[in-house]
Amino acid sequence: MTDARPAADPPDPQRMVQSIVAGLRARLEGEGRAGLVAVRRASQEELGRAAADGRGTACRAPTAAAPEAAAERPAPGMATGEPAGKDPAASPERQAAAASAPPSEAQAAEASGPPSEAQAAAALRQELARQVHVAARTLDLFQFGSAEDEGGANREEALARIAAEVAACDRCKELAAGRTHTVPGQGDPRAKLVFIGEGPGEEEDRQGLAFVGRAGELLTKMIEAIGLTRDQVFICNILKCRPPNNRAPMPDEEANCTPYLMRQLEVLRPRVICALGGTAAKWLLQTHDGITRLRGRFYPYRGAQLMPTFHPAYVLRNYTQDTRKKVYEDLLKVRAAIDAAT
Ligand code: URA
Repeated sequence: MTDARPAADPPDPQRMVQSIVAGLRARLEGEGRAGLVAVRRASQEELGRAAADGRGTACRAPTAAAPEAAAERPAPGMATGEPAGKDPAASPERQAAAASAPPSEAQAAEASGPPSEAQAAAALRQELARQVHVAARTLDLFQFGSAEDEGGANREEALARIAAEVAACDRCKELAAGRTHTVPGQGDPRAKLVFIGEGPGEEEDRQGLAFVGRAGELLTKMIEAIGLTRDQVFICNILKCRPPNNRAPMPDEEANCTPYLMRQLEVLRPRVICALGGTAAKWLLQTHDGITRLRGRFYPYRGAQLMPTFHPAYVLRNYTQDTRKKVYEDLLKVRAAIDAAT
């Protein structure tokens, strides 16, 4: 007897990849909050590892073998240094890098006739890695956290719990030994806009409040210039403790402190984040690009839009019309984005 069933189609790698990715997504979604929280934690740990192995800001230079990949490789779920709405894979720099790169496993397979099973598997692995990477970049990680995840009845309580943990933190021995107060950040727990600076200075360390020194006075004016007040926004820093003599944060300090910041952001769920200065912008976007290049454009960031601009302390040191105009233009975009989000 002949088999009436049609012969099975040969496996289509593209379709296989799509179904694997769909399966992964479904699993993630199906596992509910516990699974999502696990992903959030994993991404925070990856951020720490990124700092430890030199992928964060102020780390060693990108390797010669893969300069771009080393410079822009994001932690899962982190935005790359590409502006919103632009596919980083399609940037001219990426295309040029791809053109000059040695052939990939899949390209080599393509050049040498019909693919063997091993070559098809290699192509599949590559495509899967690419799709998972793209999916991770675009996932809205803010949906994974909430006030309840922090054990708080509401945002105020959740933020207070995080601040209490910060106050007891001694992950960075040098900073913990030298601080007067921790500076978790302050402001409206329902703020649509969060400002993130580098780390507390002397006055902030004395008062336990972010941006209350000279740079803070200018930040207040910057906020007021777009029709808001300090108590309508949330203001915090990458580091919650003052580095000695206001030195730049070390990557391991940034990595130690980032979980607190991420948890704050997950409770706050801002629509717009304004990164003040190169240290904050580079760390959050996991890029080596400087603030002059980064500023003035929005970058997708975990479900929010992130605008890097000059740090008020930099503006004070370079108090030119040009610098102030650029900051004002950036802030007007921030204001427009908040208005569009409400
Ligand atoms: N500079 C910062 O980056 N943060 C502050 O809180 C104060 C000054």
